[in-house]
Amino acid sequence: STSHSAPRQTLGPRMVKEALYTYVPPEPTADPELLCVSPRALRDIGLKEAEAQTEEFKAVFAGNKILTWDEQYNSEKGGIYPWAQCYGGYQFGQWAGQLGDGRAISLFETTNPQTGTRYEIQLKGAGRTPYSRFADGKAVLRSSIREFVVSEYLNAIGIPTTRALALTLCKGTRIMRERIEPGAIVARFAQSWIRFGTFDLPRMRGDRKLLRQLADYTAEHVYNGWEKLPSKLPPGDTKETYFQTNTGVAKDTVEGSALEEENRYTRLYRAIVRANALTVAKWQAYGFMNGVLNTDNTSILGLSIDFGPFAFLDSFDPTYTPNHDDHMLRYSYRNQPTIIWWNLVRLGEALGELMGAGSTVDTETFVEKGVTEEQADELVKRAEGIIERCGEEYKAVFLAEYKRLMTARVGLKTQKESDFNELFSELLDFLEAYELDFHHAFRRLSRFALSELKTEESRKDMAGRFFKANEAPRQEAESRERIAKWLDKWAARVKEDWGEGKDEERQAAMLAVNPNFVPRSWILDELIERVEKKSERDILPQIMKLNLDPFQESWAWNENEEERFCGDVPKYKGMMQCSCSS
Ligand code: AMP
Ligand code: MG
Ligand code: MG
Repeated sequence: STSHSAPRQTLGPRMVKEALYTYVPPEPTADPELLCVSPRALRDIGLKEAEAQTEEFKAVFAGNKILTWDEQYNSEKGGIYPWAQCYGGYQFGQWAGQLGDGRAISLFETTNPQTGTRYEIQLKGAGRTPYSRFADGKAVLRSSIREFVVSEYLNAIGIPTTRALALTLCKGTRIMRERIEPGAIVARFAQSWIRFGTFDLPRMRGDRKLLRQLADYTAEHVYNGWEKLPSKLPPGDTKETYFQTNTGVAKDTVEGSALEEENRYTRLYRAIVRANALTVAKWQAYGFMNGVLNTDNTSILGLSIDFGPFAFLDSFDPTYTPNHDDHMLRYSYRNQPTIIWWNLVRLGEALGELMGAGSTVDTETFVEKGVTEEQADELVKRAEGIIERCGEEYKAVFLAEYKRLMTARVGLKTQKESDFNELFSELLDFLEAYELDFHHAFRRLSRFALSELKTEESRKDMAGRFFKANEAPRQEAESRERIAKWLDKWAARVKEDWGEGKDEERQAAMLAVNPNFVPRSWILDELIERVEKKSERDILPQIMKLNLDPFQESWAWNENEEERFCGDVPKYKGMMQCSCSS
């Protein structure tokens, strides 16, 4: 049944205490038009393509029909009703208080019967909630297209992310931003929408009960049970740091399997640390920047989440931030691993007491509870100790994953200590020095044959493949020499790993991990412009073909367009920045 009878909120902040969500229906949408669905997303939640063409599908994902009750459920099993989540967050390093889903409304959870994976389905831009504060609860078409495309792209290249199912244009909605813009709704889903900020808020409010409930829920329902959390080192691993046991810290070098069971909340924290280390390593290896890595935009499952002023690198510049307002470069490419760790430290502080230690904000209430100040300090130190050891684990997991991906991207099968400096760093250094394209470098290198690199002259010649068409770097001779040197080392390592005569296999392996298509900012801008024009709206499903299978060489669509979208960044359209108004 459909019900829009719940009272709308009055304008302004509303504090929601002792709760993690509020029931709230989406606002009805006048004149919706389903613009695009992601076939991959449909498949992943267990729907058939035809099912996306029904009137019911269109109505549900435009916010016009609420599935409050399904015939197969009876009242004992409980019904469903849309809700918005309550969370807080640190924005640009400052505590920002309560934030919450100001324009996102979750509709229901659903489990794919084939895979058993459960998802929470949500509408973004479906109207005001108790967390909208002074804003309108809407999303413009522009930012909705960006989120729709990038969610599905990240998933296609194997980076954990929230997903996008459908994009609906709200023809009856005009939204006031810098100009008046059309509105849209993205139907999206994730295994969990819980953010670090969801933990920050009860921590800052001193709500221990809620914090424990949230941690238990996260372990039991998001991480699928305490028993699935990391407890011990894999057998044979003898790392000594970052292990907290019930009786203290395991300081000696011990076989992993000899370790005692840890505090279960420490194990939960470690799982979250590991998930985020893996994801940020993938962002770095594939040149993706979120642009606003506040704690409310950092996922408890290590998903890429909340797509505002995100971007992919064009030419390799580690100081680049896609966020126009990020003057301190806090959310720049090179800062991402540090910032995710900063966010994880805040989470560790929230979980401190549960991990059997102190809370670094809350010594006062400890003292109130009869703990001496000394003991309280001791507990805080212990929390810091646990977090620090998890920091070692974060670094180790990050580095291992980053190296694994870079090894594959340059076409190697084994890892050598020297690869990091001699191959990865030196490659990035010359890309930076000569302002060469990050993604093209890997894709073009994939096609090199070892026979083309036999002499110094031929290597210098091949170095030109890293340049833009008709545009060599200013220091052309120097750059050719430097790249040639790198190619020499690279060829030697490739030979070592693959032997002679294996070009074809190695090329295929590289082409499968180095995307041909990357949804760069200039492409998204052009896409937005053409979709807004209506007559060119078909461009969206076409680009989705490239987007969903980005490793392909061609897509049987339009040779010129494909070549253009996979080609050089047009002049003055590289490294664009985006402002936050969306
Ligand atoms: P973000 O910058 O996307 O992380 O958003 C920060 C906070 O602002 C979140 O609580 C959002 O829900 C809220 N917010 C952003 N835009 C809107 C909007 N148009 N209407 C209501 N809330 C919004
Ligand atoms: Mg956010
Ligand atoms: Mg956002």
